[in-house]
Amino acid sequence: MLGLIMDRPMLISSLIDFAAEYHGGTEIVTHNVEGGLHRYGYADAQAEAKRLANALGELGVGFGDTVGTLAWNTRRHFEIYYAVSGIGAICHTINPRLYVEQLAYIVNHASDRVLFVEAGFVPLLDSFAAEIADTVRAIVVLCDEANLPESEHFDLISYDALVAAHDPVFDWPSFDERTASSLCYTSGTTGNPKGVLYSHRGNILHSYASIGPDCMNISARDTVMPVVPMFHANAWGIPYAATMAGAKLALPGPHLDGENVQALITGEGVTMTAAVPTIWLMLLDYLKRSGKNIRPLTNVVIGGSAVPRSMIETFKRDYGATVRHAWGMTEMSPLGTVNTPLAKHENLDDGAWLDLAEKQGRPIFGVDMRIVGEDGGELARDGVAFGDLQVRGYWVANAYHRQDESDAHTGDGWFSTGDVATLDGDGYMRITDRTKDVIKSGGEWISSIDLENIAVDHPKVVEAAAISVAHPHWDERPLLIAVREEGAELEKSELLDWYEGKIARWWKPDDVVFVDELPHTATGKLLKTKLRDDFKDYILPTA
Ligand code: ADP
Repeated sequence: MLGLIMDRPMLISSLIDFAAEYHGGTEIVTHNVEGGLHRYGYADAQAEAKRLANALGELGVGFGDTVGTLAWNTRRHFEIYYAVSGIGAICHTINPRLYVEQLAYIVNHASDRVLFVEAGFVPLLDSFAAEIADTVRAIVVLCDEANLPESEHFDLISYDALVAAHDPVFDWPSFDERTASSLCYTSGTTGNPKGVLYSHRGNILHSYASIGPDCMNISARDTVMPVVPMFHANAWGIPYAATMAGAKLALPGPHLDGENVQALITGEGVTMTAAVPTIWLMLLDYLKRSGKNIRPLTNVVIGGSAVPRSMIETFKRDYGATVRHAWGMTEMSPLGTVNTPLAKHENLDDGAWLDLAEKQGRPIFGVDMRIVGEDGGELARDGVAFGDLQVRGYWVANAYHRQDESDAHTGDGWFSTGDVATLDGDGYMRITDRTKDVIKSGGEWISSIDLENIAVDHPKVVEAAAISVAHPHWDERPLLIAVREEGAELEKSELLDWYEGKIARWWKPDDVVFVDELPHTATGKLLKTKLRDDFKDYILPTA
């Protein structure tokens, strides 16, 4: 017998309708691409999204069509999110930092009918115009008529003029909640990027989970600043979650440097924010140099790469903000775990609290996890055994877009994350590596993430990567490649001594190379494939 509860479809349009109705005056503030702040309320955003929905119809975009965006975190991008998904079309957010070949590939693979692009990306678009000419029908530039740039290849439409020419009256259609809502490609360090096709249902459930106190903890009293880009797994779902909560939004546009981020925090009263560690390195560096603060910010969600212990400590000790270490993937909408303490952790001393806070966190309801050994058997949840981390859940991708085969999906309904992790009895997960980055010395694994975290905790080190280098006896040994603080004097031996007592002796890197900067992927992760390639012939010292 079925329950007698209404079966209303969970649709993204209901989020903006709710916020417009009950939080209509709550602000969405944008640091404009061209400078200055734009501010309006959720009711205005809804009206603009409805105008855009009408405009999309005129551009020939209908249910099931795909629309691409090459855009920063701004109110226009926010309107596109809601208008496109609202009409049952698919909002494909594109990472402008991808290589041109990858950009052309994904625009075609996704069949983007219309592209919404920042004025500054028009030359980039021109550079692969020929490759996408058969796919894209219209290009809308996120600016007013007066600032419309020139294009060598496309007729450009001004976003503001397009939207203003349409009516704000529009009834969102109702449809199956499993309908595709949005699309995001993983950066794919090898091979072609893979498309993750989100659904309305997945995003709504993910939003319900996100706002909870043990997750991102977002309420109507918060001011939320997603620094993580709206093209990186939907800014970790924040444009949906903040709208569901009716929180004020502060959108930083392209201004992600320490000075601008600090100004937006204090200027708009940001209480909650989220981004990858590199953003916070820039902010902390700016705070140290300027002596400024980040009041009233207390909740800093950090993920995408492992968070260094020193970062968690500095936020707490110097600025009164608590870091919530989070882990997720584009394939997981993206949240999997968030690190918040349990009641039994109430009285931990600083050291033990940091040990806990450094982990990637525990699963949120809606995501199941297991770790699996090389033989496919499940491993103990004892905080020691490590293996392939597998997940399944309400917002986990079950396949890649327009791709028949996926090595990552197991026969029994799990998704293999490619991360190597431990789980403890309370579910706290700790990533030791990505499968492909593991350093295997004498048949035993050395965690590259542990080696990197220890290195960046050294006060004179900004960033570090540990990679494997071939070794005649041990097969592989770790090599540390590090970037020193500007002007700092640091010898190899001093950095190697820093490892004493912190890890097993045999884990210590065999050598250190100092470089000016490390290569990164389009989502800001260390590009270890390049480093392994650059250092493949590196001769380790024999001592
Ligand atoms: P992309 O592959 O496009 O860069 P994702 O954001 O989907 O983008 O990358 C997901 C991967 O990022 C995870 O599988 C994991 O390896 C890494 N990652 C995410 N969060 C963390 C974290 N808190 N600590 C360590 N690694 C993380």
